[in-house]
Amino acid sequence: MSEILFNRLVLIGMGLIGSSIARAARKQGVVKTIVATARTLQTRQRVQELGIADEVVGSNAAAVKGADLVIVCIPVGQSGPVAKEIGPHLKPGALVSDVGSVKGAVLRDMAPHLPAGVHFVPGHPVAGTEYSGPDAGFAELFVNRWCILTPPENADTGAVERLAAFWGALGANVESMPADHHDLVLGITSHLPHLIAYTIVGTADELSEVTRSEVLKFSAGGFRDFTRIASSDPTMWRDIFIANKDAVLEMLGRFNEDLSSLTRAMRSGDGQALFDHFTRTRAIRQGIVEIGQDSAGPDFGRPHPHLAEAPAKKIRTTD
Ligand code: NAP
Repeated sequence: MSEILFNRLVLIGMGLIGSSIARAARKQGVVKTIVATARTLQTRQRVQELGIADEVVGSNAAAVKGADLVIVCIPVGQSGPVAKEIGPHLKPGALVSDVGSVKGAVLRDMAPHLPAGVHFVPGHPVAGTEYSGPDAGFAELFVNRWCILTPPENADTGAVERLAAFWGALGANVESMPADHHDLVLGITSHLPHLIAYTIVGTADELSEVTRSEVLKFSAGGFRDFTRIASSDPTMWRDIFIANKDAVLEMLGRFNEDLSSLTRAMRSGDGQALFDHFTRTRAIRQGIVEIGQDSAGPDFGRPHPHLAEAPAKKIRTTD
């Protein structure tokens, strides 16, 4: 058991990420009391049944009363309205954070609603699975994954350190960076790949000469991995592309230029250019495996710890 880092942890949103934080925080013994809330009665009841929080509360405003640490675990488009709801009910000295996949927009939308004397340190655990909802979470989700904190320039260093210690206790490696830098990095590593997956699966679906059954039947190739990514939650990803529009458009511009040069190489039969490019990208993959951010084996179809207990309510991909 670790030492208690916060007395009262409040989680707003109990999907994959919120419920994983609840399970991990309890397992590691880093908080005294876990308070949870979610938008619908159905999710709140399920959290109660699962017994992963000490208290389940009916509204965001009521939940944050007396909180030492509040983590907002909802789609990023909801961050501003939720900050407005909870702002007046936060106690002085409380630490407010989030887990959103975009950081600039969250900072812009939440900060104005949080009163002076409340510490605001946004965060993003770069960890996920293709499942969602409170049944999908598990205590080990953050182990050996990165959690990126994006404290505003005037952030209290003590608050940042306490939040870093919390994520460290949950097993994550913690790094801090400016919000706009985070959005650029995640734009290329996560958001653009999702955009490409959404596009290619839609394109295949629209090809009249390739029937739907053939797409499904022969999807053992690269296409299958794209379908997994493209099954990601529409609400979450709509919000991400709107919130991180500038960075994704910048990366999309570069991608289009590189796609044009590969297209040119293919058209002109420049096998050497294609070979050189594929050799470079293979080395990048090997580098990711070497630093422990993935295994050499395919992760599709890996066993899921909670699937046997109850099916997850919708499909989501790693973010
Ligand atoms: P999720 O499984 O869909 O859960 C979202 C939760 O937010 C649900 O419990 C939902 O309640 C609740 N919620 C939505 N609007 C709310 C509101 N206004 N007030 C209170 N609760 C509200 O989503 P998730 O995968 O945990 O993702 C949550 C956040 O984490 C997103 O910002 C996402 O960008 C980020 N993130 C996701 C991943 C990933 O791989 N999934 C990884 C890192 C970060 P109901 O169930 O009642 O609707």
